Order: sequence, then C-alpha cells, then structure tokens
Amino acid sequence: MARLRPLAAAAAFALSALTLATAPLAAQSFPTDDPVIRRLWTLGMDSSRVQSLGQVLLDSLGPRMSGTPNQKAANDWLVQTYASWGIEAKNERVGTWRGWRRGHSHIDLVTPRVRSLEGTMLAYSPGTGGQAITAPAVVLPRFADSAAFVRWLPEARGKLVLVSAPMPTCRPVENWTANAEPAVKARMDSMRSAANREWAGPNVRGTGHSLALGSGSLGVRLEEAGVAGVITSRPKDAWGTIDIFESYNTKAPAIALSCEDYGLVFRLAENNQSPTLRLDLDAELLGDQPIFNTVGMIKGSTKPNEYVVLSAHFDSWDGGSGATDNGTGTLLMLEAMRILKQAYPNPTRTIVVGHWTAEEKGLVGSRAFTEDHADMLPGIQAVFNQDNGTGRILRIGGGGMVNSPKYINAWLGKLPTEFQQQVTFGGPGSPSGGGSDDASFACHGVPAFGLSGHSWNYGQYTWHTNRDTYDKVVFDEIKGNATIVAMLAYLASEEPEKVSRERVDLAARAQAGGAGGPPGAMTWPACQKAPRQTNPRLR
Ligand SMILES: [Zn+2]
Repeated sequence: MARLRPLAAAAAFALSALTLATAPLAAQSFPTDDPVIRRLWTLGMDSSRVQSLGQVLLDSLGPRMSGTPNQKAANDWLVQTYASWGIEAKNERVGTWRGWRRGHSHIDLVTPRVRSLEGTMLAYSPGTGGQAITAPAVVLPRFADSAAFVRWLPEARGKLVLVSAPMPTCRPVENWTANAEPAVKARMDSMRSAANREWAGPNVRGTGHSLALGSGSLGVRLEEAGVAGVITSRPKDAWGTIDIFESYNTKAPAIALSCEDYGLVFRLAENNQSPTLRLDLDAELLGDQPIFNTVGMIKGSTKPNEYVVLSAHFDSWDGGSGATDNGTGTLLMLEAMRILKQAYPNPTRTIVVGHWTAEEKGLVGSRAFTEDHADMLPGIQAVFNQDNGTGRILRIGGGGMVNSPKYINAWLGKLPTEFQQQVTFGGPGSPSGGGSDDASFACHGVPAFGLSGHSWNYGQYTWHTNRDTYDKVVFDEIKGNATIVAMLAYLASEEPEKVSRERVDLAARAQAGGAGGPPGAMTWPACQKAPRQTNPRLR
C-alpha cells in the first residue's frame, strides 16, 4: 500500500541536482566527530549488502503473499539472516490467513488463431485441476438490473467471462501526450474514461456486483453459475503494466491478462469471432495457514525498556516479486540493522525491527504487534516506517507531534552533509493518513515518523503490478536509505530526552486554514482491531 505524499517532480529534480553538485568529499562531509556516524557511513556506503540481499529476497524467495509458502520461507530467511549477524530475531504468529500456493499459469488463445497470452492467475485463484481446460470467451453483457443478470447466468455456464473494461489503447498516456494532435488525444482520453466508468464500481454492468480488488463478488456469483473461469485486466495508464490482486473464487479460476491481450480477446468476442482459450493453471488452496511478523532486536544497554522501531511491511502482492512494495523497505531496514549491529552493538535504547505481515490486507501485522506488545507502546521513542518504493528518502514527517521539529532537526543536523541536503523535515504536520504501518503506532499516540522518497513512478509503474521486480530497484538509493535510517535510529536511541508525545491540535489547525486544510479534513487515525484471520473484504 502507501502512495502517500508524492513530491512535486520539480522539487525532486532540484534536490537531485543539488545532491549531484555536491562533491562527495568524505573527510568534509561530517558535521561532528561522532565515530558511530562515521562508522555507519563506511559500513552502509562502502560495503553495502543491499544488492546481494535483494537478489536472494526478490529473485529466489520471490513475492510474499500472506498465507503462501513463499511468505513463510521468506520469514524464515529473515530470522536466519539476522542470526548470522548475531541479531536476535523470531517469527511471531499473528493469526491465520487463507493459504494458497501459486503454480504455473499458461494461457493460450486457440481460436480463431493461436497466440500465447501474457497473463496469470489472480492471487488465491483455484487452478484447473491438473489438466488444461479449453473454453469460449464471452463478454459480460450490460444488464438493465441484477434480475436481468441472474436471468442471463445460465448462458454463461462453461464459458470464460470477460469482466473488465477493454482499453481503447494500451499506449501510455505520456506517449499520447507526446505524439497525438490535441483533439485526437482528447477523444482518446474520453474513450478511456468512459470504459473505466462503465466497468467500475459496486455495480459492474448492472450486475449488482463488484470486482473489489480482483474478481470480487462478481467472480463468486459467476462461479456459482458454473462458468469455466473469469478473465480480468486492470491496466495502469502507463508502460503496459497491470495490477494483479486477488480472487475469492474456489472452483472457477480467475486470471488477469495484460492490457492488449485482454483487448484482443475482448474484441474477438465482441465481434463474434469466437475466441477460445486454453488455460493450464496450477494452484492449491491450502486452507487457513499461520501468518507471522518477523521481529528482531538489538537489546538496549541503559534503557532496555525504551525502543526505537524500524518498520516496513514484509508481505506483498504477487504479480511480480513485491520488489518496490515493499521489498525495498524490507532491505532498507534489514541492512540498517546489519550496520547498526556492527557500529552500535550496545545501544542505549533497544532497537527493534518489525517486518510486518499482511499490511496489504489492512495493516494486520503491525496492528497485531501493537495489541500483542501493548506493554511496549509507552516505551517507544520513535518509529521510522518506509513503504513508498525504491527512491531516495527526501522527507521525514513529524507524525503530528508538536515538538517533532526539535528532535528531528537535531538528528538531521548530525547527518553527513550529503544526507542533510537530500532529506528535509516535513514539519510536525499531520498524523499518518493510514496508508501504511506507521498508522498502527500513530493511533496509539506513539511518535511514528513516515519516510517518503523520490517516487520513481511508483504509483504508475510498479505499485501492485506485474512489473514490480528486481530490475526496478535502485540499489544505490536503498544503500543511502539504509545508512540514513541506521543513523536516525542511532540518534533517536542516544537522544537524551524521551520524545514528547504532545499532539498537534488538528481541529484548531484546520479551522485556522493552515496546512491542515478545511475543518474536519484531518483526524487522528483510530486504532482498529487487527483482523486475525482472512478478511473477506468483498462482502
Ligand atoms: Zn506497501
């Protein structure tokens, strides 16, 4: 999740230019003689492990969907990796989630001509039972009402039903902007919006059902009617990527096709050219499976019951490898712990790292942690959470804490000049909007500081898509991020004071028309109980 606080491109470019213009003279870049800061710099910047760790995590272990064997294997790898560095870590059971194993997806158009299609099962989709199935594809008609939909259902038996909007173009928007005559571009824009409107929302095509985050209640209703399968497509408006979410079907498979391969099948069906598809899908529904947070710590020496928490969710969607959501946040925190253990092995306060499960299912793992470790909450000095992709950290938020400028500006002032020029303090600001795990802590009044980075087109390109893979990671930026977070963790641990928890008065600020915007626009996130088992959000 987490597409919070995108930064203006111009500002980001200006900052990047500034960074490049600064000669990296290591001897002059440290504002203080602090040997720990210098050591963290050397370890983080000169002997970074983020790329080799990333290769194992993203290529070999792969995506980390909650309830899958991949996620458990990756949890175990984290524990072993920490153990090899002498860091105590364990998997803490959070609850159960529906279990599922993704096998292969082979999808071919077989009539009116043969073409292998780019597509895959939605997460948690059933497979085709060990053999391929071949079935005709039909377009979901437009219905006057849900009764008409129900009357039509018998016709859908044995068919593959196309349930998503066909895109009139799969060229990226920027390609149209660069090349099309304005009137032609405008016409395409309106066709695109019309297609999206027609096929979106809680009442797709008059069926009375939605596709939720994948095939939704519509997929389940079609399955009950005996369809052979459900075909979806959720293209982004850039670079031909598609989002891959989930299905609640248990018998009829649900697949997602790429923008144009979906368009091809749709046009053939719409024009009565009899498309037939062959699906060979391997998957196993495994029933409820335990899910875990991986939690590590470096014990504090003089204030062991006060904590600095490094936070990043570990789960992902599985259309790609979960590289930027949130493999990069994971690598950042993992590497920060590695270098902290070497440069600062006896911290004043206990340094905790939380690799949360099921953030994508509603901040499940981090909420569970705050419930299971409620005794720790009063002792938390600061939480640093990262969940917005691969980019270099540009801003740290104040988490809605009135006195956050005092601490954060002091900490930033001790970073090497290179990082000071890169990272700005966003002001005491607002509490987390609930887009990521910092909200699970902020709701309890814990100082939780979100780190937001350069976007690298996160929202358009990799966020929840089939292209969220190793090659999109900018390792040099993760390397810097890990070093920055390790330094912030060290500085927060050494901070003589306990960070004040006095909150910004949101109502007063909003009324004054300040940064808070109109009255009522800002509220503190409410603490919600962690769902400890599969949360059927489609209902
Ligand atoms: Zn995320």
